Amino acid sequence: METRTDGTGSAAVSGAVAPAPPASLSPSRASDFMQCPLLYRFRVIDKLPEKPSEAATRGTLVHAVLERLFDAPAAERTAPRAKALVPGQWERLRESRPEVAELFADDPEGERLARWLGEADKLVERWFTLEDPTRLEPAERELFVEAELDSGLRLRGIIDRVDVAPTGEVRIVDYKTGKAPRPEYAEGALFQMKFYALVVWRLKQVVPRRLQLVYLGSGDVLTYDPVVADLERVERKLLALWEAIRLATETGDWRPRPTKLCGWCDHQAVCPEFGGTPPPYPLPVGAPGAEGDAQGRMGRD
Ligand code: SF4
Repeated sequence: METRTDGTGSAAVSGAVAPAPPASLSPSRASDFMQCPLLYRFRVIDKLPEKPSEAATRGTLVHAVLERLFDAPAAERTAPRAKALVPGQWERLRESRPEVAELFADDPEGERLARWLGEADKLVERWFTLEDPTRLEPAERELFVEAELDSGLRLRGIIDRVDVAPTGEVRIVDYKTGKAPRPEYAEGALFQMKFYALVVWRLKQVVPRRLQLVYLGSGDVLTYDPVVADLERVERKLLALWEAIRLATETGDWRPRPTKLCGWCDHQAVCPEFGGTPPPYPLPVGAPGAEGDAQGRMGRD
């Protein structure tokens, strides 16, 4: 098999297939491409494995607890009850994703695990200072949504909570276990919410009245009331992004874009910015990424 090197440092392989351009986008994958095209490639096309992180796994656990709490009658949705759900949900998470147990493989006494679970407790408890679940009756929890735009691009994602007022007004809520961004970065945080609002608008022909980000890490709530022009702008942005991804897929020009977020990237060993060489591109026939887009990655933030 003959190989050559392309402009991004990848070894290009003759006799290989270009992967199919993505047919769909989720907020996370769209954000990946905006952050660093090469990171998008590693995640969606090469499907390189990533280690579970304590923060992302804690996010998944806390999301599960907040979702399950609404199974209880309204009056019983208290902080002690929510915290009592943490151990059971952790057990379930370990069963469904055995790889998360690796996080505490070097913790035989269980001290780090106990601290980590205690932090999850604190995040759950803080939620009660921000919202009152005894007064909420979500229309949907962990709702998978998917809508196709006129261009053929499918948008999809999972909305943490959808509230519908008696008047029919829709509120989309997302929990974040991190801290609220500084005001100058709020637009980036709202991108995901506007993405969901666009999907809901396309699906139900209703513009959500309010988008709400609940930051359990810092105890902040960020809200935004979108209008049609906001959602049209997001749609144009996503179409431009989709086109850029399509072009990169075709040309193999997946540029690394180094930022301080590289510190959290699992792929420095194969990133030219850190002296690494990406896997060959296009992909060898039969490689997993040759079949197209991937959406699901572990962990919630
Ligand atoms: S280390 Fe930085 S530049 Fe390299 S792939 Fe990861 S995010 Fe992109």
